[in-house]
Amino acid sequence: MNKDRKLIIAGNWKMNKTVAEALDLVNGLKRELANVKEVDIVVCPPFTALSEVSKAILDSNIRLGAQNMSEHAVGAYTGEIAAVMLKEFSVRYVILGHSERRQYQKESNDLIARKALAAHAAALKPIICIGETLQEREAGRTEAVLEEQLTGSLAGLSPEQMEETILAYEPVWAIGTGRNATSEQAQAAHAFIRRWLSTKFGDTVARRVRIQYGGSVKPSNARELMSQPDVDGALVGGASLEVRSFSDIVKNSI
Ligand code: PEP
Repeated sequence: MNKDRKLIIAGNWKMNKTVAEALDLVNGLKRELANVKEVDIVVCPPFTALSEVSKAILDSNIRLGAQNMSEHAVGAYTGEIAAVMLKEFSVRYVILGHSERRQYQKESNDLIARKALAAHAAALKPIICIGETLQEREAGRTEAVLEEQLTGSLAGLSPEQMEETILAYEPVWAIGTGRNATSEQAQAAHAFIRRWLSTKFGDTVARRVRIQYGGSVKPSNARELMSQPDVDGALVGGASLEVRSFSDIVKNSI
């Protein structure tokens, strides 16, 4: 595939995998994907498996991500994890504002923006998730919702920080439902997001930012989705939990 932007495919393991299971999965991925150079491959295990997975992927082409982090650098925040703690395990990416956290933890755009700034301060690359619900799509509000999330979640980022940020367009109705957005729907949303980036951060930044698609990505739909001009990778949930399905998604995307 001939795109200026390198594809980035990340597996969001969510609250799955004990340490032993995480090691089985990542060791399988190492074997299957050892020769892949065309795609940035990222796994995002639960916090409890970061240490062991980090050791297992040393000297491999797989990079480590976390699923969340605190907006604070240090202090009395019971149960929270700071960016600097993630860095101890060579974490490079952190998913922020996943729709599950927006829904269950009531994370706001404002909070996500503060987390993004904290991530950049620690040289972690945020993967910021945005996306409309089915109700919003059916009401014709998709672009208005994306615009509101972009404006809020990216508030305060410099153009340089924006370039080092990954966006994930994840329509909520497609997450974990088996119902992916069509390639046309995904491309239309991604093109809208890139146009928005261009008006806020300029053409050069907009051309460089990678925008992942997320929502029921599987080996069978990866190629078509990834071949859209503004789709630069995938954030994969369910299908990232098995060696075969995640490695096939990566291979089918090249
Ligand atoms: C996700 O949760 O980010 C996701 C895209 O999940 P799934 O692939 O299972 O739809």
